[in-house]
Amino acid sequence: MITNRIRIDLSSDTATRPSRGMREAMAAAEVGDEQHGEDPSVNALCERVAGLLAKEAALFLPSGTMCNQIAIAVHCRPGDEIIAAEGSHIIDYEGAGSAALAGTAIHAVQAEHGLFTREAFERAVRPASRKMPRSRLISFEQTHNRGGGRVWPLDQLREVARAARERGLAVHIDGARLMNACVASGVPARDYAAVADSVWLDLSKGLGCPVGGVLAGARDFIEEAWAWKHRLGGAMRQAGILAAAGLYALDHNVGRLADDHRNAARLADGLRAVAGVVLDPEVVQTNIVFIDVAGTGLPARAIAEELARRGIRIGVVGPTRFRAVTHLDVDADDIDETIAAFAAVVETLKTGSVHAA
Ligand SMILES: *Cc1c(COP(=O)(O)O)cnc(C)c1O
Repeated sequence: MITNRIRIDLSSDTATRPSRGMREAMAAAEVGDEQHGEDPSVNALCERVAGLLAKEAALFLPSGTMCNQIAIAVHCRPGDEIIAAEGSHIIDYEGAGSAALAGTAIHAVQAEHGLFTREAFERAVRPASRKMPRSRLISFEQTHNRGGGRVWPLDQLREVARAARERGLAVHIDGARLMNACVASGVPARDYAAVADSVWLDLSKGLGCPVGGVLAGARDFIEEAWAWKHRLGGAMRQAGILAAAGLYALDHNVGRLADDHRNAARLADGLRAVAGVVLDPEVVQTNIVFIDVAGTGLPARAIAEELARRGIRIGVVGPTRFRAVTHLDVDADDIDETIAAFAAVVETLKTGSVHAA
């Protein structure tokens, strides 16, 4: 495997390693039995996130996927339908868990970079009918991953959420990168969270923790979520070691997400100057950059292999498409090195001289 020689990993913001400071906080964590609600660090993290999101309660879970799946299972009954933007994580990357675990279908709404309008919602929502599934839940991704890290503007989020509520749907926010949205927009997390019955944030992405997500909502929602946490085997023991990383991240790693956004913009500017390379979407708002190399005539896979040889990893997401994600283990120099390497690789592959090198 060449992966152990990767020095610059832009494949995902999950590539972050816990820093020295975070590891020290983890080592010093007070712990107890989390299943019994007796882990002081986990309890402190849950209180902290509930406060941040202005919800009554919160629940520490091993992953963001489990946050989504538990929220869906609590909100929905078998036969219900969820409305979500095409390309949502719950549609593409969770093993159809919403069908397998909660017995629900998902209605994928055509979306622009993960965002859709009130009108698109109105077209998707089901009328009361004996034949049709019952629309029960709307799920927003903030930011939208496959939409290129796009931020739902607060007004648009409120408008669509209000329409959903009027039709009797519950509202969920997949906030894997909620703090990226907050840092990019200046909107407090609680303002986005206010539209939702359930909302979570991932600790293991740009916040730099090794493990975990925190799901928040009303007290009775979290009580039911606890039952699912046990059911799925997500209840832990001395999980305070992990929660301490989360508390450390909320203290140290939120404001610096602005650096990631600057680095993503820098990467975008550098790559769009390479002949045959376009960005899709054009606009980079947060830490995710989608790159299309169709214009170079080269397959993404070939470019990725050459970059890996040079110690750089970018995610291949299609025959000619890449996704690059910036995070706290990548700095501006790494970005400049990536741009230079990308340009050089495209040039050498085009002239066919790479294998002679
Ligand atoms: C990563 C991600 C998840 C899942 O989080 P995990 O912690 O990897 O399980 C869910 N939604 C979105 C938008 C994500 O990017």
